[in-house]
Amino acid sequence: MVHFVGAGPGAPDLITLRGAALLERADVVIYAGSLVNPALLERCRKDCAIHNSAKMTLEEVLAVMEEAEAAGKTTVRLHTGDPCLYGAIREQMDALDAKGISYDDTPGVSSFCGAAAAAQAEYTLPEVSQSVVITRMAGRTPVPEREGIAAWAAHGASMVVFLSAGMLEGLQEELLKGAYTASTPAALVYKATWPEEKVVRCTAGTLAEAGRAHGISKTALVLVGDFLEPEYQRSKLYDPTFTTEFREASR
Ligand code: SAH
Repeated sequence: MVHFVGAGPGAPDLITLRGAALLERADVVIYAGSLVNPALLERCRKDCAIHNSAKMTLEEVLAVMEEAEAAGKTTVRLHTGDPCLYGAIREQMDALDAKGISYDDTPGVSSFCGAAAAAQAEYTLPEVSQSVVITRMAGRTPVPEREGIAAWAAHGASMVVFLSAGMLEGLQEELLKGAYTASTPAALVYKATWPEEKVVRCTAGTLAEAGRAHGISKTALVLVGDFLEPEYQRSKLYDPTFTTEFREASR
């Protein structure tokens, strides 16, 4: 059996209880060494075989899983954040299906949640934005043309840009083609929930400058949108004049 596990954004106590228990029992662990906090591996058994997938191809990862399976062993495939975002798990699942190896998936706290926590922000503020766009700039992995940053920016919704901290100049240019202006608030969140976490507040027009000034060019998320402004409307859910399924309006 192979267990895909979300490691969380960095802090070793942000893995789920289920993920931690699987890690503690695993015979074999393959972890995404570029971003998973190695402190998590302290949970592994002394005799656990640990592999860093940053140095492996998909074929090599699968070979380790297959060998473990043949020996009746349990493998944990530890991905950063939640495996469902930019985790390349689908190709592993499909290959495991083809080999008849069973697997399951334990979610994790994605870095976009870690970044909101670091910035003390809520993406979905009433009358500001009720949607979050999770996207990336095209890099060596292309992005479908209809999903370009400028197309999303046209909505002016809350936006979280992954995998693009090395392209802030181009990102800024694309963002400003949409509904954001040079003064729309933005933040660069570097290594959210790690001890070296940094939250750099700036605007859509000063992203590249902020990245240069703070030496941020990787392991960061770019947050953009008016949700970072102080102005919003309070929620209906907790409004005394609003009846909900659980509470009568008081006046
Ligand atoms: N599955 C992961 C994302 C993997 S893609 C998740 O759910 O978070 C890798 C990208 O995620 C990085 O380039 C960076 O943009 C972002 N990232 C991952 N961990 C981060 C962290 N702790 N702080 C800020 N950005 C992070």
